Amino acid sequence: MPANSPLDHMSLNGGSLGVPAAAVDDLDDAPAKLRRSPVDLDRIRRAVREILLAVGEDPEREGLRETPDRVARMYAEVFQGLHQDPRVHLSKLFTQKYDEMVLVKDIRLVSFCEHHLLPVVGRAHVAYVPNGKVVGLSKIPRVIDVLARRPQLQERLTEDVADLLMRELDAKGVAVVIEASHSCMTIRGVNKPDSTFVTSAMRGVFKERLATRSEVMSLIFGTRS
Ligand SMILES: [Zn+2]
Repeated sequence: MPANSPLDHMSLNGGSLGVPAAAVDDLDDAPAKLRRSPVDLDRIRRAVREILLAVGEDPEREGLRETPDRVARMYAEVFQGLHQDPRVHLSKLFTQKYDEMVLVKDIRLVSFCEHHLLPVVGRAHVAYVPNGKVVGLSKIPRVIDVLARRPQLQERLTEDVADLLMRELDAKGVAVVIEASHSCMTIRGVNKPDSTFVTSAMRGVFKERLATRSEVMSLIFGTRS
């Protein structure tokens, strides 16, 4: 198919919405997704009001009047990943002979634990050994964002990122390490404000070869004082 046939150009530029070609990409951005979000905001508003009543608060007092609505919109935002497919960020791959490790370090991670619906904040490190195909580096943080914006378990998030990249990139190996602090441990329960939880998932060459695994671990943790 010719890449720039006049018809393609027209359908992209014109479209039924009259959206300029440059804006077509923007439809994938979060605010647009949010507007089409299938999250039942009204149901959350009612539930938050119930929680306020149940803990002995007055949902009608001035400071709390807008709270159910704010919380509803916050949940729609932080759980928007439930309605997104992370594979869209891995659809554009580039052919390249490079077959050494690619590492993306210190990807900021914000998620919510599914046990308490409290924030999990930390960093993810993702490495892969390509098998002829590489992906734009900005895509890996996007994949993590989609999966993190769901009620999550850190162990499952770590494995899901590794399995997804392994499959979609057809990589020789994938390593994912996540270090995170769980609010449900730092602000309540055992009250351990400094604890971090580290999980890792090794696939392919990272699982099979100790040397490759050691290399990635020292690249991630080695230079830390
Ligand atoms: Zn928790």
